[in-house]
Amino acid sequence: MTDIAIVGGGMGGLMLGRVLRVQGIDATVYDLDASPTERPQGGTLDLSEEHGQYALGVGELTEEFRRRYRPGGDAIKIYDRAGSLLLDDPDDGSELHPEIDRIELRQMLLDSLDPASIAWGRKAVAVDASGPRPEVRFEDGSVAQADLVVGADGAWSAVRPAVSSVPSEYSGNALVELLVPDADELHPECAATVGTGTMVAMEDGRGVICQRNGDGAIRVYASSLEGEAWLTGLRGLERDAVKAELLGRLDGWSEELRRLIVEAEGEPILRPMYQLPVGHRWDRVPGVTLLGDAAHLMTIYAGHGANLALLDAARLGLMIAEEPDDLERALTRYEEELFPRSEEFAVQTAGNLDLFHGADAPRKLVEVFMQVRQLSA
Ligand SMILES: Cc1cc2nc3c(=O)[nH]c(=O)nc-3n(C[C@H](O)[C@H](O)[C@H](O)COP(=O)(O)OP(=O)(O)OC[C@H]3O[C@@H](n4cnc5c(N)ncnc54)[C@H](O)[C@@H]3O)c2cc1C
Repeated sequence: MTDIAIVGGGMGGLMLGRVLRVQGIDATVYDLDASPTERPQGGTLDLSEEHGQYALGVGELTEEFRRRYRPGGDAIKIYDRAGSLLLDDPDDGSELHPEIDRIELRQMLLDSLDPASIAWGRKAVAVDASGPRPEVRFEDGSVAQADLVVGADGAWSAVRPAVSSVPSEYSGNALVELLVPDADELHPECAATVGTGTMVAMEDGRGVICQRNGDGAIRVYASSLEGEAWLTGLRGLERDAVKAELLGRLDGWSEELRRLIVEAEGEPILRPMYQLPVGHRWDRVPGVTLLGDAAHLMTIYAGHGANLALLDAARLGLMIAEEPDDLERALTRYEEELFPRSEEFAVQTAGNLDLFHGADAPRKLVEVFMQVRQLSA
């Protein structure tokens, strides 16, 4: 029997555990968090038919997903800096990109696994692939040997150095995340500006992107092209000082858009956007591979990160099951499919980073969203 160690219990790692379980293959997921509820899980995700939803199908989770996703969440509004509404496309119920809160998706994946197959509080620090079987070393001094180690441990993967020495790089884009809680009740004007789904207001390299969450909160991401030093300067500041800095960047913008920051209550989360180079790949290392952000970290501007992590996991799980006597062949097939796919989406994501931050962003974004959502003018 093949021993499989999955390092990282995020979207990708949990989905791989699930797909292997469906295929009758045991695996252990190791995660650094002390428990599944240790960290808040953030906003919402839309799962595309050919990526996230495909993976749910392979994991036999489609019906459960349909019970948990959020109808109405696939609406979009795009504004310019003056607050003129340039695109207002409600959720048409087509379910092409259904939205689900991350916390729901994660819980669904956790519920689909045997709890004994997840080891919490195990932070991997390195993988040694020099022996006949790779070894994962953990911060607590313990070691796990396996036939296969999968790095599903995200942006700062501890497994990645076993296959690739390429570091992630700062993309030039900084996000500051804030929260407007219980918007319909407490912040009705913000609720009306954002609507039930996603709202984008970007111009001149800066702006706000908002997402409605299932609990009625609005997650506000203030975005701008800045050097990393700008975020470093915000670190440790009180919330009001951070908000004042963000509002200074939106000087002259409409009051409706500025209000999303003025009324935000959450503690600011500073999110420098890192990425791996477009076309990142590695030579095959026996018994070790990567999936999700560990393999192809991208910025958020094409909305592919979680979708690709789920897809990678589904494809890897299936290929392992299809090659029961030849793990290396399964990994070769997986990586041959992974590399060009990741490159294609990394190119698109890099283009979208420019699109969102170009001087004429609002109008260009309207054109792109109309194409993607097959709308006529
Ligand atoms: C603000 C924001 C908005 C986003 N919006 C979207 C969106 O709308 N659509 C979309 O598709 N994507 C989106 N993404 C991207 C998406 O969140 C990621 O691409 C996705 O979570 C990657 O999944 P993953 O499983 O590869 O990694 P992660 O979700 O990062 O999971 C990694 C896991 O590994 C664990 N871990 C890390 N290091 C170690 C270690 N050393 N040892 C053990 N465990 C470890 C972590 O605790 C975590 O559980 C967004 C990202 C951000 C930051």
